[in-house]
Amino acid sequence: MPPSTICKTVRQYNSEPVSESDMRKLLEIAKDYGTVKNYVYQRYGGVKGLPKLYPGYTVQNEMTASGLRAQLGLPSVYFYLAVFDALGDIKNQWTQTKGRIEKCIRDNQNLRPEDRHYLRFVMKQSRCFEAILLEEEVQLSEEWEKSFLEVRTGVEEERLNQYLRRQVRRHLHKLHTDTADGFAVSEKAYRYEDHGIYLAIKEKRKRVFIPLTDNNRYTKQLYVRIFPEDGNIVIHAPVEVKVRRNEDYQKEVGLAVGIRAMFVTDEGNIYGEKYSDYQYALSEHIREGNIRYRRNKEKNPGRKKYLSGKERLEAALHTYINAEINRMLRTEKPGVLYLPKLPQCSKAGVNKRINNSVSMWQRGYIRDRLVQKCREQSIELIEVVGKDISNECSRCGAIGQKVNGVFICKACDRELPERENAAKNALKRGRMRS
Ligand SMILES: [Zn+2]
Repeated sequence: MPPSTICKTVRQYNSEPVSESDMRKLLEIAKDYGTVKNYVYQRYGGVKGLPKLYPGYTVQNEMTASGLRAQLGLPSVYFYLAVFDALGDIKNQWTQTKGRIEKCIRDNQNLRPEDRHYLRFVMKQSRCFEAILLEEEVQLSEEWEKSFLEVRTGVEEERLNQYLRRQVRRHLHKLHTDTADGFAVSEKAYRYEDHGIYLAIKEKRKRVFIPLTDNNRYTKQLYVRIFPEDGNIVIHAPVEVKVRRNEDYQKEVGLAVGIRAMFVTDEGNIYGEKYSDYQYALSEHIREGNIRYRRNKEKNPGRKKYLSGKERLEAALHTYINAEINRMLRTEKPGVLYLPKLPQCSKAGVNKRINNSVSMWQRGYIRDRLVQKCREQSIELIEVVGKDISNECSRCGAIGQKVNGVFICKACDRELPERENAAKNALKRGRMRS
């Protein structure tokens, strides 16, 4: 059963610019919040912190005892959120690190199957894993002890343990944040009233009032992003939304990510045709801004104007992306969408004039929005293998040629738009996997 509700982030905006003095107070919190996070990263982000991450009470107690909160004068409503925020980052970091090590284990030709078996076992057993990394005696419950005995027979345990420690040293990077652009805020630290929100600040019993563009009130933990240069803030609020199920959404649809447009379907329908115009405007703005910035670094190069322009162009791009995804879902009525996996780095005919980093970043945004909207409407989104998806003929499977956006297959004498061919392959691959 798919879930009946899912979590979604909604945003709230200030209705008038935040005054400089109020912004300074918010910035103070954001700075301290970052300081606390860095302290937690530093103290618990390494191997020695591992046994303390779950369930986290130890860290909380030690952080209370550290005296850092009093030293900063940060209200506890912010202090502990920063601690748990940082702990969450550290946990993610470990998940990623383990994932990378698992890949190395898979790819390492010098390991025998029993070696791999041993390594996977000790990585799954958190007690084993911790003990090995800290070079301590492994202590397990009786039943696990028995399985452990089995996996460790016939392997050079110490050599493998060393291998594991080396891999962790290689892949686990200590986290650090240099930005002070926001903070989480718990229910106790805010109050909605007078068409706005009151936020607790470092000064005791004082609050900053920020008028908002809407009168929505949330009761969960919020995140306040601040933009001191423009005098703006954005509040992120998590809300539970009901999953909509559209009974008439039944079709299987293959999608290709376009070079200029956002999507092309297996029937050749195109969505987001103006996407590259919006993206180009944003990239150019960033490029010109950077040139200007480098040219007159000493003088004040009008950064404020640049940033507000960037924000405006990005907002326009995102509005467009969302509208086009909605239109695609409404028109196609898919029950299942097949989409090629995002390549690690795109080689496919990227327009050189388009700033690559912006392009990749926005591709990620499109994908995230698509994932979210599919979840909200209970549409299955399945990723298919992307290798050669645009080179193979969707009718006969032969490798064809691409000339000026047209796919040509000599083997079965077929010509069709390149992206439509790729989308047809996505559909084909998706159907094959089930
Ligand atoms: Zn063919």
